[in-house]
Amino acid sequence: MSDCIFCKIVDGEIPANKVMEDEEFIAFHDIHPKAKVHVLVIPKKHIPTFMDIQEEDVALLGRLHLFIQKVTKELNMDEKGFRVINNCKDHGGQEVYHLHYHILGGEKLAF
Ligand code: AMP
Repeated sequence: MSDCIFCKIVDGEIPANKVMEDEEFIAFHDIHPKAKVHVLVIPKKHIPTFMDIQEEDVALLGRLHLFIQKVTKELNMDEKGFRVINNCKDHGGQEVYHLHYHILGGEKLAF
C-alpha cells in the first residue's frame, strides 16, 4: 500500500471531488482552493517531482496537456483562460510528492 496521498486517490482509497478521469490521468478539486476554480491534474503514474520526469514519460506528459485542455473546457475556463502551475520540491513549495499541476482560474487572477 502506498503512502502517497495522490496514489491513494488513484487507487480509490481516499475520496476526491473528481472533475474528469481517464486511464492515465485524474483531475480533482483542490481541498484548499486558492482561486474560484482550483483543480489539480495528476498522472496516475507515481512520478515524485518535476525533476523525476524521464524520457519515457515525455509522451504521457504531452497527453497530459491535452487532458488539461479537456478539463478546462469541461469547467468553461478555456475561452477566458487559466494558469497552470507546478511546485517543485522544497523551494517551490511542493507539499505532495506526486507530480501534479495546479489549474487556477474561473476569475481574473490577481496574483
Ligand atoms: P503542492 O504544494 O503543489 O504540493 O500542492 C498540493 C496541493 O494538494 C495543495 O494545494 C493541497 O491543498 C492539495 N491537497 C492535499 N490533499 C488533498 C486532497 N486529499 N484532495 C484534494 N487536494 C488536496
